Amino acid sequence: MITVLAFGGGQDSTAILYKLALEPPFYKKYVKGRLIVIMCDTGDEHPATYHHIQFIKQFCKQRDIEFHFIQSGQGFHPQQWPGLLQWMEKYDGIISKAYPKSCTDNLKIKPFYNFLDNLIGKQYYHQDIHHAKSRKSFIKKYALENGKVQVLLGIAHGEESRQAKSFPHIWMANSLMRIYPLIEEGMDRRSCQEYTLSTGLPLPPPSNCLRCPFLSAIELVWLYQFHPKKLQEWIKREQAKISKWRRLGLPNEKNLGVFGRKLLPESLQAALRLYGHLTSEQLQEYKMSHGHCVLSKY
Ligand code: SF4
Repeated sequence: MITVLAFGGGQDSTAILYKLALEPPFYKKYVKGRLIVIMCDTGDEHPATYHHIQFIKQFCKQRDIEFHFIQSGQGFHPQQWPGLLQWMEKYDGIISKAYPKSCTDNLKIKPFYNFLDNLIGKQYYHQDIHHAKSRKSFIKKYALENGKVQVLLGIAHGEESRQAKSFPHIWMANSLMRIYPLIEEGMDRRSCQEYTLSTGLPLPPPSNCLRCPFLSAIELVWLYQFHPKKLQEWIKREQAKISKWRRLGLPNEKNLGVFGRKLLPESLQAALRLYGHLTSEQLQEYKMSHGHCVLSKY
């Protein structure tokens, strides 16, 4: 059998990984067969997350845990979605709170299963079909012959609404079994942080893209203070999207930005009025305790 940990690089999935590495009863309870840890790069992770991944690579290597970090150059991301910012640049598009969300599926979920299908094909069936539109035939075949692939997901206790009620594809329902160890163990985000601190191992920030439309007003101030160039790039991308659709004749009320009608410069001013007084330490403290990719269901 195969058990895969969907590693997001943040606090919840890091707590699972540490527990798997350090607590044999936890490992025995949740891992059946071979353990594979996979993280997909959105191309817009926080610098601290990329730094944490370097640590995790070493951590896994020292403990003989198989870890794969999937980046767009490897060919598992959809061609239109090499990364969050690249997608915005290529299409003069913007990921907006007001539009259906496609980024998680294209930057995290699709590359994850494209890679897994390729790995199973190569290692169990000696076939190397390496492309971003894999039909998941090897995952399906493997599950039929060996039992469903277990997928461990880092959704914390208290975030149960993020559990997907059903699978979006039949092949997934037939081939995968989702498991939520943190919910089963009653571990919320705070317990994950406390657990990690108790191990003496690094506690990463919550993982989410730097330019995510679901960030809060405080996080916008954080971005302004700590990564002003990244914020300027984002403002430029939003403006490019607005200009493109204005040229194409979309009425202003339908031509929306990252947060909707109110564009980023205006939202930033509003956020600064509310939270501009916070110190760097206060902003960092907030940032360490809040994830915002919360609308994604897994
Ligand atoms: S963190 Fe935000 S921008 Fe990144 S994939 Fe999740 S929803 Fe999309």
